[in-house]
Amino acid sequence: MSTSAPITQDVMTIPRKLPEGGKINLVGLTREQMRDVLIENGTKEKQAKMRVGQIWQWIYQWGVRDFHEMTNLSKSYRAELDEVFEIAIPEVITKQVSEDGTRKYLVRIAGGHEVEVVYIPEDGRGTLCISSQVGCTLTCSFCHTGTQKLVRNLTAAEVIGQVMMARDDLEEWPVPGAPKDETRLLSNIVLMGMGEPLYNFDNVRDAMKIAMDPEGISLSRRRITLSTSGVVPEIARTAEEIGCLLAISFHATTDDVRDVLVPINKRWKIDELLQSLADYPKVSNSERITFEYVMLDGVNDSDEDAHRLIDHIKRYKIPAKINLIPFNEWPGAPYKRSSNNRIRAFANIIYQAGYASPIRKTRGEDIMAACGQLKSATERARKSRKQIEAETGLSSS
Ligand code: SAH
Ligand code: SF4
Repeated sequence: MSTSAPITQDVMTIPRKLPEGGKINLVGLTREQMRDVLIENGTKEKQAKMRVGQIWQWIYQWGVRDFHEMTNLSKSYRAELDEVFEIAIPEVITKQVSEDGTRKYLVRIAGGHEVEVVYIPEDGRGTLCISSQVGCTLTCSFCHTGTQKLVRNLTAAEVIGQVMMARDDLEEWPVPGAPKDETRLLSNIVLMGMGEPLYNFDNVRDAMKIAMDPEGISLSRRRITLSTSGVVPEIARTAEEIGCLLAISFHATTDDVRDVLVPINKRWKIDELLQSLADYPKVSNSERITFEYVMLDGVNDSDEDAHRLIDHIKRYKIPAKINLIPFNEWPGAPYKRSSNNRIRAFANIIYQAGYASPIRKTRGEDIMAACGQLKSATERARKSRKQIEAETGLSSS
């Protein structure tokens, strides 16, 4: 594995089915995949579609993990399911709660890897920040995750499993028969945790389809935001196959600076990225693209930068809002956060040009849960791919 080559996609994937002898996890399968595994394992073809609908609702609408609780299935069918299948989600290792109510979970996934998940409560809503990879193959110089050596793609089960885990912890599964409560503690999902979601496209897509499914987790596609560093060829697919909102880690206004901060820029330059955003289907004034811009003292935070940023967005006529992120420091980070005055001045230039320029409130800083601070610090995470393959019996593909 080479993390020094910043734009390769050198990751391990693991198969959906568990190794021989284990049960097959139903979590994360698309409806078609679930139908296929049910039939392969004895469900009558004629009944399969109905069974998928029933099991799907138990898993994703009611949060049930035990087939024996699926009371609209016959007892014998429940027992058959239990023999072959399981409903498994990542295991929570630790949970930290910040002074401001932000919760950070460290969860363990197959192979002993760990990823972090952050829940940010707000007035009348709450956002879950989920991870798409263990570590990240990209090496953005201001991001803690980018310094983590080991990378593997999360499976769709592990991606949607983070949402299910959080609903467990928030005790937010509905109780059958109880009146529907529309105010959700977990109302939004952002793919802004560890990893580059567009380098794990299929699994992220399948998981987000479940999150949006009216018989699944049932979140509107407008409540899901995928953040990418700018994997240009996958951007149009995001609109077509997922349909969620898009955030771009823009962070610099010249190619020279962006090459250093977000090295994927060496592959797809600012102009190519902007063109792909201008082409992003469904973009309109009501569904703007979020430009994320981390404020680094003396690096990208001048008035000229603010003006250049606006020029870029105007030149390509992109409906946009600009989210300014005060840099979150981490041990050994090579940058400093811009001063509050500088951030405000920068925001003001953008605002005067007619664009929303909110400054992201830093949440959960006391527990290192803020943007870009995530990195699982275990020794295991530093093991070589070979060691992990040997331990798990899983080979990379
Ligand atoms: N890989 C994706 C999503 C995860 S990062 C991406 O890069 O977009 C989520 C956001 O946090 C990105 O905008 C990222 O650039 C930003 N970020 C990373 N490190 C940060 C730090 N130390 N301080 C503030 N924001 C950071
Ligand atoms: Fe990866 Fe995003 Fe961090 Fe860059 S900012 S290293 S793409 S997680």
